[in-house]
Amino acid sequence: MPTDTPGYTIVRETPVLGLGGSHCEVRYENVRLPAQNLLGPRGQGFVIAQKRLGPGRIFHCMRWLGQAQRAFDLMCRRLHERRAFGEPPAAEQLMRQHVFGSYAEIQSARLLTPHAAEAIDAGSQARVEIGTIKVVGARMLHNVIDRAIQVYGAAGLTPDTPLERMYRHARAGRIYDGPDEVHIDSVGRRIPGVYAAGGTWG
Ligand SMILES: Cc1cc2nc3c(=O)[nH]c(=O)nc-3n(C[C@H](O)[C@H](O)[C@H](O)COP(=O)(O)OP(=O)(O)OC[C@H]3O[C@@H](n4cnc5c(N)ncnc54)[C@H](O)[C@@H]3O)c2cc1C
Repeated sequence: MPTDTPGYTIVRETPVLGLGGSHCEVRYENVRLPAQNLLGPRGQGFVIAQKRLGPGRIFHCMRWLGQAQRAFDLMCRRLHERRAFGEPPAAEQLMRQHVFGSYAEIQSARLLTPHAAEAIDAGSQARVEIGTIKVVGARMLHNVIDRAIQVYGAAGLTPDTPLERMYRHARAGRIYDGPDEVHIDSVGRRIPGVYAAGGTWG
């Protein structure tokens, strides 16, 4: 739809956790378009959007893995470089649990992401696989960056490192393209449905 079409209004940009950007509130009022502007059959817009959203969620997960690895690298270097009270934080057991938790979650997401992509390549809609990795990937990124900030202390909350900006992006990932709860609900419903039909899953 050309954006100068009568009835289309950009109401405002909506900053997200202080990040400006391209997310706008838009209003459609009696917008009329020629039939050739339809991207598919009338009334099928949501179906078309869903087809795009599935692979799009896998792309999110791929980017999230890169972001998480960056945060993990920063965290592990900081654990050795920082000297607050003599010993580096790496000597503290409670700091080591941040390494373990982050490594375990990154590796889990790293294996689940291609698993979902392979299911799509095999011709499946892969709703269980995509719903699962969307939740696991978004939580993983959020948790890994959160731990990296914790390891950095106050410096992690400042723009001295990229972590605080990464964290703000990561928090939104648990909401956009379907919040965690909606995917959990879908996966938790679909798998027992296979059993109800006499099958198994795994
Ligand atoms: C940065 C960003 C970019 C976005 N980009 C786009 C975009 O490009 N295109 C687009 O269409 N939208 C976009 N969105 C909107 C996003 O998809 C919605 O915000 C999201 O789907 C949640 O909808 P909602 O905000 O209306 O929350 P609500 O639907 O009101 O949900 C509020 C809470 O209720 C929970 N909830 C809802 N349903 C259930 C359920 N069945 N069971 C349990 N809990 C439930 C949710 O999990 C959530 O915690 C974007 C949002 C953000 C933050």
